[in-house]
Amino acid sequence: MKEHLSFIQTQAEKWKPEEILRWAFTTFGRNVAVASGFGVEGMVLLDLASRVRRDFRVFTLDTEFLFPETYDLMDRVEKRYGIKVERVYSALTPEEQERDHGPALWKRSPDQCCNLRKVEPLRGKLTELAAWVTAIRRDQTTARATAHKLEWDHKFGLVKVNPLVDWTSEMVWRYVVAHNVPYNPLHDQNYPSIGCTHCTRAIRPGEDPRAGRWAGSEKTECGLHVAAPVASSPLVEIKTSQ
Ligand code: SF4
Repeated sequence: MKEHLSFIQTQAEKWKPEEILRWAFTTFGRNVAVASGFGVEGMVLLDLASRVRRDFRVFTLDTEFLFPETYDLMDRVEKRYGIKVERVYSALTPEEQERDHGPALWKRSPDQCCNLRKVEPLRGKLTELAAWVTAIRRDQTTARATAHKLEWDHKFGLVKVNPLVDWTSEMVWRYVVAHNVPYNPLHDQNYPSIGCTHCTRAIRPGEDPRAGRWAGSEKTECGLHVAAPVASSPLVEIKTSQ
């Protein structure tokens, strides 16, 4: 089955998250997976996905620098939803990274560190897939402001599905409360956005919700959701599992 993404993309902007997830799971079967960093938006996405399909695939980029609370949440997610989180690691252990690139690379060159521990592992994982699902929201960062619910990911060369792209933080938290969705307890300690221990701090009153990520540097994204230059027409044929 082949369809033009640009046509579906227009339709999908009117779909609810469950409808987008149903389309993705039906179209791509086992060749689509939810990517989660287990932030609160990611938890909502997992809960929604579990209502659409019980045995959906989910993977996480385990940098080996995550908070204990995040690892604990992963274990709770596996039990609650009956799924196995596919953990994706860097080719280098933290010790090998220090040996090859020196100590505390995240301080001297966070882009290089993110590239080694997130971007390249993601690139490898996505070669297994025809589509990936993310929990990004347009109002999180400038780079995410133009994201569509369904789009061609020019950077990694597959379909990218963003069911929550038009949600606000308030909508996310309302869903969490209404459906008793588990979440990272650090969110209750002024960590609205949670990444690696080395690069995440609690925010102070009045600060931007992402001010605690790479604080003190210009960096706002790990590079996973930064669009590559568009080299070809947006008309893209979708390779499906069917
Ligand atoms: S968030 Fe920090 S520690 Fe984690 S991969 Fe990026 S630079 Fe490295």
